[in-house]
Amino acid sequence: MNLTYPALLQQGILINNQWQTGNNTFPVYNPATGQQITEVTDAGTAEAEQAIEAATTAFSNWSSRPAKERADLLKKWYQLVIQHTDDLAILLTTEQGKPLTEAKGEVQYGASFIEWFAEECRRTYGQVIPAPVADRRFFTIKQPIGVVAAITPWNFPIAMITRKIAPALAAGCTVVLKPAEDTPLCALALAQLAVEAGLPAGVLNVITTQQAAKVGKVLTTHPNVHKISFTGSTEVGRILMQQASSTLKKLSLELGGNAPAIVFDDADLEQAVKGTMASKYRNAGQTCVCANRVLVQRSIYPAFLKAYQAAVTALKPGNGTEQGVTIGPLINQEAIDKIQTLQKDAVEHGAEIVCGGNIHEAGPLFYQPTILTHCTTDMRLSQEEIFGPVSAIYLFDTVEEAIALANNTAYGLAAYFFSRDVQRVWHVAEQLQYGIIGMNEGIISFAEAPFGGIKQSGYGKEGSFYGIEDYLITKYLCLGGV
Ligand code: ADP
Repeated sequence: MNLTYPALLQQGILINNQWQTGNNTFPVYNPATGQQITEVTDAGTAEAEQAIEAATTAFSNWSSRPAKERADLLKKWYQLVIQHTDDLAILLTTEQGKPLTEAKGEVQYGASFIEWFAEECRRTYGQVIPAPVADRRFFTIKQPIGVVAAITPWNFPIAMITRKIAPALAAGCTVVLKPAEDTPLCALALAQLAVEAGLPAGVLNVITTQQAAKVGKVLTTHPNVHKISFTGSTEVGRILMQQASSTLKKLSLELGGNAPAIVFDDADLEQAVKGTMASKYRNAGQTCVCANRVLVQRSIYPAFLKAYQAAVTALKPGNGTEQGVTIGPLINQEAIDKIQTLQKDAVEHGAEIVCGGNIHEAGPLFYQPTILTHCTTDMRLSQEEIFGPVSAIYLFDTVEEAIALANNTAYGLAAYFFSRDVQRVWHVAEQLQYGIIGMNEGIISFAEAPFGGIKQSGYGKEGSFYGIEDYLITKYLCLGGV
C-alpha cells in the first residue's frame, strides 16, 4: 500500500494525543487479497480506562470553549481530511474492500459530517419560556452531555466515525472511540489528522482492540461515560443497552435493518432499477440500509426483472483498487458463510437463482452478484439481514399487500419505493413503519438529513440538525425574585 503521506498509517492507540503501542497486537487483513496489511495495538480494559480518564480530564476545558473555537478546529480537521482524500481512500479500500471510487465518495461523505457539525454547533440555541407567574423567568440552555463512547462498525470505516464524533466534539463532548477490529486503520488515520488540526489532548481518544466485549463492558459501565453511540448489530445493541442501564447512560443505537424496496406498477422502470441497484449493491450489499427485500408488483415483474438482471450482471467484481471494478469483496469468511446459509435455505423453500449464486473467481471473499426470485416469507432471508450482493425478489398484487409485507419485520430503518402516483406516494410513505423512506431514490444518506431507525433498528438520529441534539442536554433555568 503506497500512501503519499505515510503518517496516516498508525498502529498505536491514541490517548491524550500520544500514540501508544502496546505489546499485544492483532493483524489487519486486506479482504480482496487475504494478505496482512499490518498489525495494530490490541488494547485491553486498562487502556480503555486510561482513555476515559483522558477524556474526563479534557472535558472541562473543551466544553467551556466558545462554540466558534470548536468550529474552527473542526473545520481544520475537515480540510485535512479532504486534502488527504486519495490516501484515505486507498487505506479504506485496502482494509475494507470497497472500490476506490466508492471509497473516495465515503471520504467526502464522511468529511461532510465534520463540516456540517462545525457549522451546526454555533446554533445550539436555548429558549426563553414565558412563565405563568409574575416574579419568575424561565430559560433553557444546551450543554454537552459529557464523555462519549463511540463504537463503530467496519462497513463505513470513515463515515460511521465522523457521523458520531463530529457532532460529539462540536457539542463540546470529549470522546473515546472504539472502531471495528476489521477496519481500525481509517479510524487511526482520522485521529492523526484530528491531532494535526490542533484538537487538544484527551478530546479524542482511539482504542483499537479485538477484545470488543471486555472493552465494551468498561465503556458501557464506567461512571464517567455519559453517552454511548453505537452502530452495529441489533444483537450487540441489546447487550450494550443492558450494560449501560447500570449507570443509565444515554444511548444512540443504529442497528440492523431489513429494508424493502417496493416497485409499484406505475413506477418509472429505469428509476426503479437504478434506485434498487444503488441501494442493494453499494458496498457489496453491506450496509444496514441495503434493500434486503425487493417487492415487485406482479404486472411489472417481467419487465423489471429483465432490466434489473441486465444491470446486476453488468457489475464487475474485483479488487477495489483495479480500474473498472464496481463491486468489492465481502469483509470476511463469516459474511460469505452467512450468505450461503441464507441462500441455501431460500432455495430449499422454493427460491430460484436467476444469476450468480456462487463464490466469484476473483477470490474466496468475493460473491457473485446474485438474484433470487420466488422468495417468500417463510425463508430466513425475509427476516434476517443478507448483508451481501444478493437480491431477494418477492411478488405482490395490491398496494395494501405490499405495505403489509414491507412492515412484516422487527426492523424499521430504511424503506424504498418507486411510484409516480402522488396519492400512492403519500399513502405508502405514511404507512411504512420505517425511520427513513427513499421515494424514487436509492441513495438517502446526507449530512443534512436525519438518519435513524425505529422498532428494533434502534433510536437516535445522526446527521441533520437533530444529530447534535443526541450529544446535548437541555438544562432548565428558573430565575426567581424578578
Ligand atoms: P457486525 O455484525 O456488523 O460486525 P457488530 O455489532 O458485531 O456488527 O460490531 C459492531 C461494533 O461493535 C464493532 O466495533 C465490534 O467490535 C463491536 N462489538 C461487538 N461486540 C461487542 C460487545 N459485546 N461490546 C462492545 N462492542 C462490541
